[in-house]
Amino acid sequence: MRFETRAIHDGQAPDPRTGAVTVPVYQTSTYQQNAIGWPREGFEYSRTGNPTRQALEEALASLEGGKHGLAFASGVAASTAVLNLLKPGDHVVAGDDLYGGTYRLLDKIYRPWGLRISYADSTDPTAFAAAVCAETRLIWVETPTNPLLKIVDIPEVAEVARKAGAWLVVDNTFVSPYFQRPLELGADIVVHSTTKYLGGHSDVIGGAVITSDQDAWERIKFYQNAAGAVPGPWDAWLILRGLKTLSVRLREHERNALKLANRLEKHPAVERVYYPGLTSHPQHTLAAKQMSGFGGMISFELKGGFPAVERFVAKTTLFTLGESLGGVESLVCYPPQMTHAALGPEGRAQRGIRDNLLRLSVGLEHVEDLEHDLEQALE
Ligand SMILES: *Cc1c(COP(=O)(O)O)cnc(C)c1O
Repeated sequence: MRFETRAIHDGQAPDPRTGAVTVPVYQTSTYQQNAIGWPREGFEYSRTGNPTRQALEEALASLEGGKHGLAFASGVAASTAVLNLLKPGDHVVAGDDLYGGTYRLLDKIYRPWGLRISYADSTDPTAFAAAVCAETRLIWVETPTNPLLKIVDIPEVAEVARKAGAWLVVDNTFVSPYFQRPLELGADIVVHSTTKYLGGHSDVIGGAVITSDQDAWERIKFYQNAAGAVPGPWDAWLILRGLKTLSVRLREHERNALKLANRLEKHPAVERVYYPGLTSHPQHTLAAKQMSGFGGMISFELKGGFPAVERFVAKTTLFTLGESLGGVESLVCYPPQMTHAALGPEGRAQRGIRDNLLRLSVGLEHVEDLEHDLEQALE
């Protein structure tokens, strides 16, 4: 069946006891056992397994085209679970344009723990090949990247990983499986912050791992139960509800974003626009090849530097100043002092994140209202 249908039905059959068409919120910590060591329906304790969470995990696996899904209490908890496949002394090659929290996790938690980490130019598969060494066990990328919306060539980097005997992990948060399915392009593991487009309504924090690799799945599942960063049933239910409308929302996010990106590109107050759907994007062809849509995230540089940025964010009314993305409401973020503050001025300069950069999460308001909001703030 097609994506839209699976988003509504997979893992979510009507409740066998009552016929309820939505998966119930199983707000329980434990389950009755028939005899010692014989749980009735395979559930024994909700850290280990919960029917609402299981429904979400099955739906996520289906949408990403993977065999197994695992849900976590946050995106970074999902990333942590994947990084725990490794042991001290192992080497990771990561793309150089990453979510700030992933960078922090690698550098401030896992480097002191004993992981060795190299960063490679996200846009250049040969840079990943050059960074690989005998101890490389994992390659970690995000595409499109945050905040500069660069595109990582997934099949090419998957080939580098395969030759190195390493797992390729793709953080697919920015465009969701509706527009991009990394497992079908050769990746081994997908991670998500379900907080963003999958939940879609800015009302829940969550994360997920999806894979068809049996060994990786068993080990991450063991870690999920042993370390315990699981979502509660309400949070799992909210994300499950978000999934049902993912396709409709994403099409509209993209339609609005494409229109706004075109407008911004023509505006005299704007220096440069980063949006993979624009033909001016240096990797537009690659983006069109590996994604079926370009998503709802736009970054742009304002003429007039930081003072112009301050004036702009003070003037927008629909674009709310805030971190996060992927919700129904439009947000504007200033990466240098918000999501990417931890990189420091040098780290940002190295990665091309300039002081006049703004990032938009284009929401589902009427596009003319959004256009008007941007226009009056740019005045
Ligand atoms: C938000 C985000 C994360 C972290 O997810 P949380 O749910 O905030 O823990 C990871 N990767 C990307 C690309 C994100 O945008």
